[in-house]
Amino acid sequence: MKSKTSMLEVLRRVIQEVNGARNLDAALATMVRRIRKAMHTDVCSFYLYDKELESLVLMETIGLRTQAVGQVVLPLGEGLVGLVAKRSEPLNLEDAQSHPQFRYFEATGEERYSSFLGVPIIHQRLMLGVLVVQQAEQRQYDDEDEAFLVTMAAQLAGVLAHALATGNINRRALPSGQTMFKGVAASPGMAMGEAVVITPPSDLNSVPDLVPSDEDFEVARLKEAIGKTRAEIRAAAERLVNRISTQELALFDVYQQMLGEAALSEEVEKRIREGQWAPGALADVVRRHVQYLERVDDNYLRERAADVGDEISVAMLGEVPRDKLKGLVSVRGSSTSHVAIIARAMGIPTVLGMVDLPLPRLSGAPVVLDGHRGRLFVRPAPELQARYESLIAEEEALSELLSHEQDLPSETPDGHDMPLMVNTGLAVDAAALLKSRISGVGLYRTEVPFMITERFPGEKEQTRLYRDQLESFSPLPVVMRTLDIGGDKDLPYFPIEEANPFLGWRGMRVTLDHPEVLMVQLRAMLKASKELDNLYVLFPMITNVEEVDEALRLMDRAILELGEEGIDVERPKVGVMIEVPATIYQMDALAKRVDFFSVGSNDLTQYLLAVDRNNPRVSSLYDALHPALLGALQELSQDALRLKKPISLCGELAGDPAGALLLMAMGFTSLSMNAPSLPKVRAAIRRVSLKDAKQLLSEVMLLDTPEQVHIHLDKRMDDWQLSHLLPPRD
Ligand code: PEP
Ligand code: MG
Repeated sequence: MKSKTSMLEVLRRVIQEVNGARNLDAALATMVRRIRKAMHTDVCSFYLYDKELESLVLMETIGLRTQAVGQVVLPLGEGLVGLVAKRSEPLNLEDAQSHPQFRYFEATGEERYSSFLGVPIIHQRLMLGVLVVQQAEQRQYDDEDEAFLVTMAAQLAGVLAHALATGNINRRALPSGQTMFKGVAASPGMAMGEAVVITPPSDLNSVPDLVPSDEDFEVARLKEAIGKTRAEIRAAAERLVNRISTQELALFDVYQQMLGEAALSEEVEKRIREGQWAPGALADVVRRHVQYLERVDDNYLRERAADVGDEISVAMLGEVPRDKLKGLVSVRGSSTSHVAIIARAMGIPTVLGMVDLPLPRLSGAPVVLDGHRGRLFVRPAPELQARYESLIAEEEALSELLSHEQDLPSETPDGHDMPLMVNTGLAVDAAALLKSRISGVGLYRTEVPFMITERFPGEKEQTRLYRDQLESFSPLPVVMRTLDIGGDKDLPYFPIEEANPFLGWRGMRVTLDHPEVLMVQLRAMLKASKELDNLYVLFPMITNVEEVDEALRLMDRAILELGEEGIDVERPKVGVMIEVPATIYQMDALAKRVDFFSVGSNDLTQYLLAVDRNNPRVSSLYDALHPALLGALQELSQDALRLKKPISLCGELAGDPAGALLLMAMGFTSLSMNAPSLPKVRAAIRRVSLKDAKQLLSEVMLLDTPEQVHIHLDKRMDDWQLSHLLPPRD
C-alpha cells in the first residue's frame, strides 16, 4: 500500500462498488480483483463459512484456479484458512508452507505461493468467512496491508450478512436436506406446516445478467409481457369494480398508464440493445427508477420505493385468517416488537429477527417452527418431525390440564389475592370466556384498531369500538390507553420518519401536539363509558409532569363539552404509564395528579438498558429481569404503596410465571398480560405462597447479573416443580 490517502481512496471505491453491485457474486468478483490490485499481490480469495458443514468453502478467487471454486472445503481449524476462522484473528505468514497447519490442495495450484495473509470476516460476533491474499515470492505483508484487509473484511461482513439473509448466496443444506435457522423466540408454542412467503418474492438483485443471443426475440418477449400484464390489470380492476372505492380503482388506471407509456418500454428496449436480456434489462431500468425515487425529497414517493419489505406488520397479521396461520417468522423484529406482542395475544408461535433466512427459497417448503427456542427447521428430517409431533402433543396436554383451574381464584396458598388482568387491542371475541377469570382489562392498546384502518377512525366509529370493549367486560374495569403511536407503531396514513423513532415523537408527545386527535379519542372514550362507568384512562410515554397536566386539561375540556351537548359523563380515573426512566424519580409529583400507575416494563427495559426493543442485533442484551430493572420495579412498588396509589404492570414481564411471582412479592396491586399467559401465571400463583415468593425476591435482589437471576429463578421453579410452566430451553 502506498500511502494512507490512497488506501482510503481504494477502500472507498471498493465499498462503493461492492454496495452498488447487483448481486453478491458480482460484489465478490469485483472485490477480490480490487484488493489484488490495491495490494499488488498475486492472489485474493474469499472463503465462505458454512455453519452446517462447519467448513470454509472457496467461493471466489482471482489468482487461484477457478475450477477450485466450490471444490476446496476446509473444516474449521484445518489448513491456514481454517485456522484464521477458528481463532477469529488475522494470520500473516511470510513463508506459509513452513507452517505446520499448511495444507495443499491440488485443485488450487497453490504450491507456487509462499506468503499468506488471512483475515476473518465477522458480523455480530459470528464468523462468516475468511479473506485471503497470497504472493508467489516471499513477502512480509506490513501493518498497513493487514489494516487494509481487516477494514475490507469488516465492510464485507455487513454486505455478506445481508446476502445470506436474503438468500442471495448459495449455502449448502445439511446432508439430510434439513436446514435450521435461529432467531429470537417471540411467541411461544410449536407448529408444523408449509411455508408461505408473504413478502413479494420478486427480488431485482436475483435477476442474473445474460447477454442475449437474439435481441429482437428479447424485445418481442418484453412487448408480449407488457401486453399480458395490462390485460391482467384490466381484468383485476373489473373484478373489483363494486368492491373498492373509486379512488382505489383509479390506481389501476395509473398502473395502466405507466405500462402504456412508451418511455418505459423504450428504456428497457435500449438496455436490451446494449446487450442485456429482457429480464435483466427490465430489472436494470426498475432499479434505476427505485434509486431515483429513494433520492426524491417526497415522503409519499419514497414510501413507494420501500413498499417491498421483509417485515411483518400488525396490519398484515390482520389479513390472514387465524385458522390458516400456524406460526410466524420474520427477518426483522425482536421479542417485544409489537408484532410479537400481538402474536402472543393471538397465541401464534413466532420467531423474529431471523436475519439469515433465505426468504425467496422458502416458499412451499415444509417447516417446523419452535417458538420457545427461536428455531425454524426447513425440510425437517422424519426423526425431527416425529420429535416435534410428540412435543406438540405434550404441550396440548399441559394446556388442557391447566385449563381446569382457570376458573379458580388467582390466590396464593397462604391466601394472598393477586388480581390478574388482560391486555387487549384486537377484537375480543374471547371476552365472555375471559370475564369470569380476570379482574379486568389492564391495558387496551387503542392504537391497534387504528393500525388496521386506512385513516383515523372518526368519533362515532371510535365510540362504537370503545363501547364494545367496555360493554364486553362490564362491570370489570377497562384501562384504555390513549393513542400510543410512533416507535415501531406507525399508522399507514400518518407516517413518522425519524432517525431514532423510539426516542422521538411517540405516544403522548404526538397526541399533545395533535390535540384534535386526542380530543376525538377522549370524547369517544367518555361517551362510550356513559352509564357503564368502568372506564379508566391511561396516558403513555409520559416524561414530564406538564404533559400530564396538559392531558388532564384536555380531558376536563372534553367532559365539559360533552356536558354542553347534553351528555353528562363521570370523570374517569386516570393513570400514567411508568415507562420512561424519568418518571421513576417523579412519582410524588405524578401521584398528586393521577389515580393509578401502570408500569410499561417493555419500554422501561429498553430505555433503562438503552437497548432498542426491536433490534435483533442487541436482543440478547434486552432483559426485563436485569438487576437494574428489578431494583427500579421494587422502588416503584414501594413508592406507590407510600403514596397510596395502585400500581399495576402491563408489560410482557407480567406474563412470565417467574416474573409474576417476583412482582407479586414486590407488592404490585395487579398484573396485566396477554390472555394466553393467564393459565401459567395463575398456576404459579396458586402454588407458591406469598411468603415463599418474598423469600425468592430477597434472594434474587442480591444477584449481580441477569444470567444469575435467570439461573436462580430456574432453579427455584424447579424446586417447586414448576419448571413445566417455564418456556423450554436447550
Ligand atoms: C410497555 O411498554 O411495557 C407497554 C405495555 O406498552 P407497549 O408494549 O404497547 O409499548
Ligand atoms: Mg410502552
